[in-house]
Amino acid sequence: STQKARTGRLKKPFVKVEDMSQLYRPFYLQLTNMPFINYSIQKPSSPFDMDKPSSTQKQTQVKLRIQTDGDICGGIPVQVHLKEKKKKGYCECCLQKYEDLNAHLLSEQHRNFAQSNQYQVVDDIVSKLVFDFVEYERDMPKKKRIKYNV
Ligand SMILES: [Zn+2]
Repeated sequence: STQKARTGRLKKPFVKVEDMSQLYRPFYLQLTNMPFINYSIQKPSSPFDMDKPSSTQKQTQVKLRIQTDGDICGGIPVQVHLKEKKKKGYCECCLQKYEDLNAHLLSEQHRNFAQSNQYQVVDDIVSKLVFDFVEYERDMPKKKRIKYNV
């Protein structure tokens, strides 16, 4: 029955790409509407953007709702919260996927790497550059106070 489910024809419209040697799995794109070049949309919008007024209205409504929610939780927009929370990605140092960037940066594995000598290749290049900025001494707030008092 599994084989039966895996055979057949693709539902149109579709794009199917496969290597000629047939060593790799094909991959597919199936959409209800294939891209359409929309010349009537205003520049610099993508010609693949749809300019249906109804969908634009819907998007605006969603945005407004998010902003309202943001006001409820301390003036910080929910959108910002979500962006900060869900920074998924892949760490090229640890060779590891992560669900939350900041949580990964605090993980033992990543901190070990960050404090290792694996950045020697970077430091070697940096050491060839010339430092030509003005370098001020650190501001000492206590010293300033003493000066004003005197
Ligand atoms: Zn890492």
